[in-house]
Amino acid sequence: MSRKFTGDHLVLATHNQGKVDEMVALLAPYGVRVSSAADFGLEAPEETETTFVGNARIKAQSVAKATGLPALADDSGIAVDALGGAPGVYTADWAEGPEGRDFLHAMTMTWDKVCATKSSPPFSARFCCALVLAWPDGHEEVFEGVAEGEIVWPLRGALGHGYDPMFQPLGHSKTFAEMSAAQKNALSHRAAAFRLLTSACFT
Ligand code: IMP
Repeated sequence: MSRKFTGDHLVLATHNQGKVDEMVALLAPYGVRVSSAADFGLEAPEETETTFVGNARIKAQSVAKATGLPALADDSGIAVDALGGAPGVYTADWAEGPEGRDFLHAMTMTWDKVCATKSSPPFSARFCCALVLAWPDGHEEVFEGVAEGEIVWPLRGALGHGYDPMFQPLGHSKTFAEMSAAQKNALSHRAAAFRLLTSACFT
């Protein structure tokens, strides 16, 4: 039996504004007051685990401990089959450049690596999302969601964030970056994990 969220204030354990925006929209129906780790002036902890769940756990536990409030962390990334599942948990690292995160650079590098494998399209890939809801007493609940699709080139669309312009979900002709927030939130890996979270902890 999952622990229910009974408070009225939740902290999102992320510094990624794109994720904050999506998570706020996904939590909107539940009337919860939502803050982010940045609102509390918290630094992002080092993500030293090799799984999405492991890294989400580090983020959620550190924010719950620091704020004394329940904290929700998302760890996510894209896994490309032609690259043996890379960049996977290292998706954000591939975007690190000398002047901060550069997703155009990361997507170009991903595409170049796929082309170098000499495999043929479609290049199947999936976005994965692990959510960990942690309480200050150390209790946690874990949920995972996946969005299957393919990576495409050239990039298409200017909405969304991160790798959205190169990801086309299965059965659709638009990339995530060509979809409205509502369309993406009906299909995404984060939305799938949120459905599990909300039915277990918010009802
Ligand atoms: P982390 O979970 O903060 O370690 O980083 C996740 C990485 O995956 C970031 O580079 C994100 O931009 C990328 N990512 C996760 N979810 C999405 C998404 O919904 N769209 C595009 N990129 C995403």
